[in-house]
Amino acid sequence: MRYAEVIVGLSAGTADRRFTYAVPEGMALGAGWQVEVPFGPRRLEGFVLSLKDACDLPPEKVRSVLRAVRAYPVILPEMLDLAAWMHERYLCNLVDALRLMLPAQMRGGRVRERTVRMARLKVSCAEAEAFAAANPRARAQAQIVARLLEAGELPAPALPSAPLRALVAKGIAEVAGEEVRRTPSALRDAARAADPELTPGQKRAVAEITDALERGGGRFLLHGVTGSGKTEVYIRAIRRALELGRTAIVLVPEIALTPQMVSWLHARFGADAAVLHSRLSAGERYDEWRRIRFGEARVVIGARSAVFAPVENLGVIVVDEEHEHTYQSDRRPRYDAREVARRRADAHGGVLILGSATPSIDTYMRAMPGVRRENQLTLIELRERVHGQPLPEVEVVDMRGEFERGNHSIFSARLARSLESCLDGGHQAVLFINRRGYSTFVSCRACGYVVKCAACDVSMTYHQVENALRCHYCGSEIPPPKTCPQCGSRYIKYFGAGTQKVAEEVMKRFPKARVVRVDVDTTREKDAHEKLLERFRRGDANVLVGTQMIAKGLDFPNVTLAGVVAADMSLNLPDYRSVERTFQLITQVAGRAGRAEYPGRVIVQTYEPDHYGIQLAAKQDYRAFYLRESAFRRKALYPPFTAIARIVFAAREAGQAQAAAEAAAAAMDAFLDRGGMRPDVVQMRAVEAPIKLLRGLARWQVFLKMYFKGDLDAVSREMQSLADRAPEGVTAEFEVNPANLF
Ligand code: ADP
Ligand code: ZN
Ligand code: ZN
Repeated sequence: MRYAEVIVGLSAGTADRRFTYAVPEGMALGAGWQVEVPFGPRRLEGFVLSLKDACDLPPEKVRSVLRAVRAYPVILPEMLDLAAWMHERYLCNLVDALRLMLPAQMRGGRVRERTVRMARLKVSCAEAEAFAAANPRARAQAQIVARLLEAGELPAPALPSAPLRALVAKGIAEVAGEEVRRTPSALRDAARAADPELTPGQKRAVAEITDALERGGGRFLLHGVTGSGKTEVYIRAIRRALELGRTAIVLVPEIALTPQMVSWLHARFGADAAVLHSRLSAGERYDEWRRIRFGEARVVIGARSAVFAPVENLGVIVVDEEHEHTYQSDRRPRYDAREVARRRADAHGGVLILGSATPSIDTYMRAMPGVRRENQLTLIELRERVHGQPLPEVEVVDMRGEFERGNHSIFSARLARSLESCLDGGHQAVLFINRRGYSTFVSCRACGYVVKCAACDVSMTYHQVENALRCHYCGSEIPPPKTCPQCGSRYIKYFGAGTQKVAEEVMKRFPKARVVRVDVDTTREKDAHEKLLERFRRGDANVLVGTQMIAKGLDFPNVTLAGVVAADMSLNLPDYRSVERTFQLITQVAGRAGRAEYPGRVIVQTYEPDHYGIQLAAKQDYRAFYLRESAFRRKALYPPFTAIARIVFAAREAGQAQAAAEAAAAAMDAFLDRGGMRPDVVQMRAVEAPIKLLRGLARWQVFLKMYFKGDLDAVSREMQSLADRAPEGVTAEFEVNPANLF
């Protein structure tokens, strides 16, 4: 007798429910198969985690699997292992990990009938045998014929797809009950574009990567300056993987922000490519999932969650713009897609490529000497732009001097002149400002009062079009006050420029400017983002004003000027990564200019022109920045030299959140003392979180830094369990190295 360990239902917010069922004699079943099982008086769907030959329960207590819902494993063995690993690594339920691996349609838990595509022979037995005999070299096809001769018919998904398609094309076999797939429109008219000649740098990079691919795998950091042609390196590595009969996954920070990457991959891989993104309908997503699962699409492009695409025989996995924090999930399971990618590449003997012009400090450190072997990345550098264009010159403008000279506008004289001549020359400009809306805050000149959201401890942003103050954390809106709510003064003013204001000022001062604005507010509608960029690409607009949405990945040949309107905004955020993010931002914005035949100019406006983050970004000297920044991190005990862990307690009453945090801090103290772990951990007192009020909830935190020695997993488990045992009325979130520290 065989037994199946089945996990039932994969709905959100449930604990793991695992049960043992008997497998009826003769039923084909394996790990990862979707089954229907009796559950009390009901029938439920579940997933087989493993099969075993013995069972501890008395036989009369064990009920039997009713049937296999699909005649193939819906979760591949490698993915089951991955889920088990995530369960350990991210301290999440197994169901939470498994949920990420299946489209919503497959984890309903209720039982539905659906048609399965069946393959059968279309010719007589004799003809089929004659075909097999006449084509001895088409082994895979002959094997399918033999299996179909024996079985009569088989579920098509259980057969290797390419040889089956060949048999169908030759009229030997047919597939019936075929469902229509909803292929996203962009894919259908994809044409195949030709390969450009590689630059010498690209050639070396491709050779090194494909070499590793053929020898059983490798992990690379592809550090290439902006415009060095990293995408082409990915494409050639993927091409080689496909030639070797393998598959590929390309992760991008956010699909909507990288339309060019998607269209390039489509143009080169046609229908071999599948796109997974949040704007697909549930049906489209399910269809793409199946195209991937059955090997019809062998190159998968998507954001974070595409790292779970059900590909077999993975050859190449790319994480583009690896420094972006969108690769870290901010919900449970709090996984890091780069870590998952690495694990999957290792499991398949494939190649991991992390690509960036501004790698995160953590990643770059792993490409330096002295790192433990299992963490090591091989560094590949592309130091030159594709057509040998120079990197654009970056000028830092000291805004304090502008103010002294009586220029109170948001544009320095330098930026204004450069914009003027850029537009006169018929070129295009990109202006970057790190805040959407009109004014970044509203405050009283008389008493200093700043208008804050009543539910969140953050200043509200003025949106001129709607004439409202809006909170960017919870979305609440209030009409702008005419007098100060605190002192009654009428001198209540708007400070700091957001995208709306910058766009307005450009139109006022530069008659030649035709502006498009790209931020969260202008891109809410489906495809709005693509349409706005298309206007700019066609030249209908010549100035692009936007938030960080426009900082990365865009490739417009006619852009000769890029401006960072206020670099200080990101420099002064309360986060140990604020300098790193400012450096990345300036480098990425600079990378938008001068990518084709015209040289580019970049202007960075700041009140702290001597700050090393700004100075080194202006020089575009990544290595110097890395050395400086990593020295700071080492000294201040920040990642990657430590791991940061925190529990955030949130409650209606500040006192409740505080009491919970203080109790947890005391419990952690006791735990560390008991385990003799004091030397491995720097424990902080319970304190208010940087944003002490969010969506109406008061927030307190327990925060600690862990050195990489001792049993850190035990510390994490203890913190998770303290979070799980938070008192009634208090929510608690446990995070390790969170993407946001607010
Ligand atoms: P990166 O991501 O490194 O900033 P991209 O991959 O966006 O650079 O490439 C920059 C531009 O150069 C793109 O327009 C791309 O099509 C083009 N390109 C890349 N490699 C080549 C090549 N070998 N020959 C010609 N053009 C290329
Ligand atoms: Zn006032
Ligand atoms: Zn709010």
